[in-house]
Amino acid sequence: MRKCSLDKINSVFSEISKEAKLYLPINQNDGSAAYKEWEEGASWSEALNTVRSPKDFFFPQMENLMEFKTEGKNIEVIDTRSETEDFVIFGVRGCDVKSFEILDRVFLTEPVDSYYASRREKGIIVSTACTKPAETCFCKTFDISPEEPEGDITTWKTETEIFFKANTPKGEALLEKLSGITEECDETKVNEQKEKISAIMNKLPLKDLRADAFGGGKTDEFFNHSAWEELSGSCLGCGTCTFVCPTCQCYDIKDFNTGSGVIRFRCWDSCMYSDFTKMAHGNNRLTQKERFRQRFMHKLVYYPENNDGLFSCVGCGRCLSKCPISMNIVKVMKKIGGKEA
Ligand code: SF4
Ligand code: SF4
Repeated sequence: MRKCSLDKINSVFSEISKEAKLYLPINQNDGSAAYKEWEEGASWSEALNTVRSPKDFFFPQMENLMEFKTEGKNIEVIDTRSETEDFVIFGVRGCDVKSFEILDRVFLTEPVDSYYASRREKGIIVSTACTKPAETCFCKTFDISPEEPEGDITTWKTETEIFFKANTPKGEALLEKLSGITEECDETKVNEQKEKISAIMNKLPLKDLRADAFGGGKTDEFFNHSAWEELSGSCLGCGTCTFVCPTCQCYDIKDFNTGSGVIRFRCWDSCMYSDFTKMAHGNNRLTQKERFRQRFMHKLVYYPENNDGLFSCVGCGRCLSKCPISMNIVKVMKKIGGKEA
C-alpha cells in the first residue's frame, strides 16, 4: 500500500495524464458532478457520485459503427473505428465498478462486442472508497463494498491523505509510475477509514433492504403480481431511470443517410419507451405496465437467472434521486418482494 499527502493530488493527476488520458468527476456549473478529462487547475469533485455513470467510457451514448459508400451497384463497407487510446477513470465508486462486471457479461460474452471490448482493454479503473454515502445508497443489498471498492487500483481519501492499493497488473504498473510522489505505508489508517464507512452504512435508511426474495426462477412468482398496475400507473415512460443507470445496456442501431453514403450508428435505447424493440409486426410490449415490469424483472429476475445469480442493479441510488415521479427499484422491491416500508 502507498500513500501521499492530498496536497500532492494535482501532481498525481499530472503524472497519470502523462501516461494516458485521465478522467475524473469534476464539478459542473449546475452543482452536479460529471466525468471530464483532467487538465491543470481542475479539481476532483467532492460529490459522492456523478449524474451520468462512467459506463459511457465503455458503452457511449452514441457511437458510429461503420459507414457504407455506394457507387452504382457497389457497396464499400468502411470500419470507422479509430484506435482507442489508453485512459484512466479516477474516483469510481464501488457500485459503479461493479456495474462494469454486469456490462461485461453482456458485451464480452460470445459474440463479443469488439467496440466495447477494445475500450475495456484500454481503460484503467481507479476506484475510491465512499466516505460520505448518501441516504439513497443501497449497494450493500447486492453485497458491494463501499469500504473497499474493486478496480485496478483502490484509493481511500482522508482529510489529509490519499492511500493507494493496486489490485491488478494494470494497477501495479500505474502505481509504479507514481512511486516518486507516493510512499510505502501500512494499512492502519485505511482500516480506520473502512470502519468509519461501515458505521455510516449501518445508519442509512436502506441498510435493511434485502434482495433475497428475488433472483433466477422467480418469473412465475412475480410476473403477474397485482402491484405492477399500481407501481407503473404514474410512470411517464421518460427513460430517465435507464439513462442514469450504470447497468442498463439496451441500444438501438440505425442508419443515417449523409447524402454521399450511410453511417450506421448505435445509441442507448430504453425499455421504458413505447417504440422500444418495435418490429414490422408492431411492438411486443403494448402498455407502460408491461414496459415498466420488463425493466425491473430484468434487473431482479431475468439477469440473475442467466448470470449465476448476479443482480443487474448495484444500488447506486441514481434512479431514486432522478425519477420525476419518485418511482424506483427500491419501491418495486419492497412492494413486489412483500416488504413494503
Ligand atoms: S420510472 Fe420514473 S424515470 Fe423511469 S421512465 Fe418511469 S417516470 Fe421516467
Ligand atoms: S436500478 Fe437504480 S439503483 Fe439500481 S443500478 Fe440502476 S440507477 Fe442504480
